[in-house]
Amino acid sequence: MTGIVYKSTGSWYTVKTDLGATYQCRIKGKFRMQGIKSTNPIAVGDRVDFDLDTENNDEPVGVVTYIHDRKNYIVRKSVNLSKQTHIIASNIDQVFLLVTIDNPPTFTSFIDRFLVTAEAYSIKTILLFNKIDTYPEETLDEVRYLAHVYRQIGYECIGISATTGKNLDKVKALMKDKVSMFAGHSGVGKSTLVNAIEADLDLKTKAISSQHMQGQHTTTFAEMYDLSFGAKIIDTPGIKGFGVVDMDKTEVGDYFPEFFKLKQDCKFNNCIHVDEPKCAVKDALDKDEIAYSRYRSYLQIIEDEDEHYRTDTWEK
Ligand code: GDP
Ligand code: ZN
Repeated sequence: MTGIVYKSTGSWYTVKTDLGATYQCRIKGKFRMQGIKSTNPIAVGDRVDFDLDTENNDEPVGVVTYIHDRKNYIVRKSVNLSKQTHIIASNIDQVFLLVTIDNPPTFTSFIDRFLVTAEAYSIKTILLFNKIDTYPEETLDEVRYLAHVYRQIGYECIGISATTGKNLDKVKALMKDKVSMFAGHSGVGKSTLVNAIEADLDLKTKAISSQHMQGQHTTTFAEMYDLSFGAKIIDTPGIKGFGVVDMDKTEVGDYFPEFFKLKQDCKFNNCIHVDEPKCAVKDALDKDEIAYSRYRSYLQIIEDEDEHYRTDTWEK
């Protein structure tokens, strides 16, 4: 049998088949881990094959025999320095990044850092400019400008209001038949949006978490939910953004799609678009074909990479 992991408690996995039947599954003995080393062999979003084990059980339980290749995954590095990686979720079709100009402000440096990470993880991002019902014309102009900047790069942008329902039909249409996640600063309206999209979901979440009232512990696990209109969402309570990506300074530009497109026109093929002569990215910046805010974010990120590198070297 085959299905998708909806929930994981560490030793048990809730797996749902494509026909909608749910089984509790576990791993037997040594399990060959695929790809990366992580503290958890199986994550929410994984497609797994399993055999039903009916012996000694009133209800059949599943034994996982195979994990299908992951299309992508996001990780959390453990806080201690053991460099152990925990896979939060996998096979994510898209992330909706909620952005508000005010209340709270979302800076372009945050958006760009988020996008670089999402690109590195091969996860499609859609920008949702929320709370447009509260903005004066001046702020709406800012939304229009940012939407223009990010659309030109290739990111879909939608102005929405989670409270008035404006453009939520568009968000729902994009979510249909896909696995989505929602991200953004605290207070941008993620829970309000999810509740506006599917009112019952809030109740469902609460019902589930009150069953296992183990303090805050259970809420730190990711969980997948089916929505009524054929969409799936992965909720990652308590997890802020994706894990850090170990990226080399020379790689960062590859995750700025508009820089990457121009890279072949730079004189040097290892150009990092800072001080090199005949740099196509800097030429485009001079001609206003690249947004200055994007270039500024890029410089900040590669400066941090420098730091990162120095710290690492020092630790060794
Ligand atoms: P989260 O931390 O991202 O989950 O944000 P919440 O969903 O808790 O929203 C934070 C606050 O913003 C709440 O008071 C919401 O009512 C409010 N809010 C969220 N979306 C909108 C919106 O589109 N318009 C307005 N006016 N308020 C909103
Ligand atoms: Zn260059």
